Amino acid sequence: MLSFDVEEFDIPIEYGQSIDEAEQISVSASGTQKILQLLKSHQIKSTCFTTANFAIHQKSLVKTMSKDCEIASHGYWHSRFEIDDLKRSKDVLEEISGQQVYGFRRARFAYTPQNMIFEAGYRYNSSENPIWMPGRYNNFFGNRTAYIEQDLLNIPISATPTLRIPLFWLAIKNFPLWLIHYASRQVLKSDGYLNIFFHPWEFEDIEKYHLPKYVTSRCGEMMLDRLDWYIRLLKQHGEFIYMKDYEI
Ligand SMILES: [Zn+2]
Repeated sequence: MLSFDVEEFDIPIEYGQSIDEAEQISVSASGTQKILQLLKSHQIKSTCFTTANFAIHQKSLVKTMSKDCEIASHGYWHSRFEIDDLKRSKDVLEEISGQQVYGFRRARFAYTPQNMIFEAGYRYNSSENPIWMPGRYNNFFGNRTAYIEQDLLNIPISATPTLRIPLFWLAIKNFPLWLIHYASRQVLKSDGYLNIFFHPWEFEDIEKYHLPKYVTSRCGEMMLDRLDWYIRLLKQHGEFIYMKDYEI
């Protein structure tokens, strides 16, 4: 399961820089176009967790995305959240994409009560990264594999058993290729699936934003090449599916 968090590029704000909304949207929109091209060349399925705010600004791009990708919700706004946004974002995304939306991923993997996600009409939630990373994720003892809670299917981001070597965008960007290969095979062998994710803005040149080096490393073309390499590798080990089609 390969997914993308299609959102406003608001990470510079996290690091104390201002960036207006039009630029936040355009950086992500440009990255999304590059991803769509790559996905098309590989003929693979993927899931796009999209914010309603991005979709409202990029209606025709989201319509194009929905031809080949599953559209899921990444909330209404990337930078703030209210419980009503669960339902409101789903409605907006369904209206624009013409697809039924089954999945939810909360921005920055913040916690949302399971029953509220279910009551808003979602079938699955993918809002956990079960790893420890200083200053970002502190969930080393969280559920590592898919589980059902309060009728909601939860699909955490993949990490290896025991050591919990992460396999999300920051890891794929910074780890040596042999380690990504090793960790991916270990997860596939142990869990039977992989759940990995990226952001469109990783495929843009974002060096000018003065973000930490581990965020900007290999951005743009280099990251596109790396994703291309990773997709080729994973194609040898299985099949890409929409997250809505995963069954526990
Ligand atoms: Zn996000």
